[in-house]
Amino acid sequence: MTHRLDALHGVDTDALRAKYALERDKRLRSDGNEQYVEVSGDLSTFEVDHYAAQTIERDALNDKVDAVVVGGGFGGIMAAARLRQAGLRDVRIIEKGSRLGGTWYWNQYPGAQCDIESYVYLPLLEEVGILPSERYARAPEILEYAQAMASHFRVAESALTQTVVTEVTWNESDEYWTVRTNRDDSLRARFVVMCTGPLHRPKLPGVKGIEGFAGHSFHTSRWDYDYTGGNSLGGLSGLEGKKVAIIGTGATAIQIVPHVAASAEHLYVFQRTPSSVDLRNNAPTNREWARSLQPGWQRERIQNFNAHISGQPGPVNLVNDGWTDLMDKVIAIFRDDPKTAEGKSLEQIVELANLVKMQEIRHRVDNTVLNPSVAESLKPYYGLFCKRPTFNDEYLDTFNRANVTLVDTDGQGVDRISEGAVVAQGVSYDVDCIIYATGFEVGTTYERRSGFDVIGRDAQSLGAKWDEVGIRTLHGMHSHQFPNLFVISQFQGGWTANYTQLLEEAANHVGFIVKHMLSSGHSIIEADRNAEHEWAELIAANAVNGTGGIGGTNCTPGYYNNEGRPLDGPAYGAPYGFGSIAFFALMQQWRQSGEFDGVTFR
Ligand code: NDP
Repeated sequence: MTHRLDALHGVDTDALRAKYALERDKRLRSDGNEQYVEVSGDLSTFEVDHYAAQTIERDALNDKVDAVVVGGGFGGIMAAARLRQAGLRDVRIIEKGSRLGGTWYWNQYPGAQCDIESYVYLPLLEEVGILPSERYARAPEILEYAQAMASHFRVAESALTQTVVTEVTWNESDEYWTVRTNRDDSLRARFVVMCTGPLHRPKLPGVKGIEGFAGHSFHTSRWDYDYTGGNSLGGLSGLEGKKVAIIGTGATAIQIVPHVAASAEHLYVFQRTPSSVDLRNNAPTNREWARSLQPGWQRERIQNFNAHISGQPGPVNLVNDGWTDLMDKVIAIFRDDPKTAEGKSLEQIVELANLVKMQEIRHRVDNTVLNPSVAESLKPYYGLFCKRPTFNDEYLDTFNRANVTLVDTDGQGVDRISEGAVVAQGVSYDVDCIIYATGFEVGTTYERRSGFDVIGRDAQSLGAKWDEVGIRTLHGMHSHQFPNLFVISQFQGGWTANYTQLLEEAANHVGFIVKHMLSSGHSIIEADRNAEHEWAELIAANAVNGTGGIGGTNCTPGYYNNEGRPLDGPAYGAPYGFGSIAFFALMQQWRQSGEFDGVTFR
């Protein structure tokens, strides 16, 4: 029988649960992560850096530094900044791209824009002394901000760009790391911080014919402006007269589609699963509001946002956007009618709020897209956080254009690529250009995604260790037999959708430890074997991702839930299961206690 509360909110819970399960089941595949192909060999052209103005010429370096930071995105820049502030003098960032910026260097595709409010997404705004010009800043401004940060903290000058780390090896004799690169550099470093990022190796669908396509093709993270013309703000004049395919409809495609549609003769959007597309509501930064900000405002706003998306909201919602709206709905259900909520558990109320939110998102499709059958295909039937929610005010309307065709593959994806076409559901669509908006490697090994292995004490390989026994770290950061190595990543630590908060917390933690070492005269830190074992077991025992919430029948497959497949064995790669707020508090306690449980200093 329908609960009174469900009826009140116009939601048929049982019918929607059944529909969600149906949509999930038709997308489950036995090959899971194996459905994608690695961008290497014949496909390595998909990794070519189109943004580099020129190839930097320089001699190989053979020097000794205090620290090497691998990766020059926000994480690497903040880690380097905190290391310098801790007292290290020579800190070198090594970065594959030709400028610092990480994900914002690679993702310069048209329409790229942050999808979490820039006042909480762009880190250290108060320290750097910059306020973004818009609530949702666009890619060029974010990339410039990364440069400004690096200059502000004086870590830009020593950075090596267009340089790829190939090997990191511990030398027991002098207790330094040797970091080798593709430019024959051999750097000696006391500390190494790994900031290689979670989403940077492009992946392609494992369908036949990609290599044989005779037209032009590229991945969204290596946008080819020489071919399309324009820039990340649009104006893709090179696509005039061209038939273009975009494969994929995730967070990236949502931002690209309106720009390609505006220039191409015809755009075919190949969809396997529709994204949830909520209101964007961008606006220039309000000058009066900016003047009213008091010191400490950003930290307060970041924590307030995280509390809301983590289900622990305070009385005020400072950001008040599509991310935080779900929790407001839960609160409203209780506040508006606590009596009718009787008989429902908190979990069921959260489910109801989620169903109501997704219903709203589906109504938005109906209210925007004129063709009812296209509108139906664009409606997402799964829980809000099963996939990255998206926010865009132009995407849905683009499907009202005469030059745009949605090719919905009913959850099956494209069949194959031929010499001049994309084939889906047995139909061949002739195109001049294919843009792969198919995302990044997530479910592959850390070593493969980093592109190199780390060899620690006793010639222990980090890749081999983690392959054998599963990821083993203390706090997601230190690993036994890998002294003075810090890993900044999303596994075994505190995960939050506002990823830069995770990076800032981790960078602060590294800075704190190194400062402590310098003041106490220690030169080595290493995780204890028992401590990392216990931490890994704690993580696996309390893992949420991949097993509970987003692994359930309400979620279609994707990289958030290991392509909908339950993990084989314990989930050592999961984040801290009690949530990021609890994790950050735990790390703060660890720092304040002065006991340094689980690590040994020498
Ligand atoms: P995703 O992995 O999220 O999306 C890949 C898309 O490709 C999905 O729609 C997927 O469908 C589709 N796909 C895969 N294989 C096939 C196939 N064989 N045929 C047809 N379609 C296929 O990658 P994105 O680049 O969109 O986003 C990655 C992440 O980057 C986001 O989750 C987000 O974290 C981040 N991001 C952040 C932005 C920001 O502004 N901060 C903006 C853009 C991205 P299916 O869903 O069925 O798997």
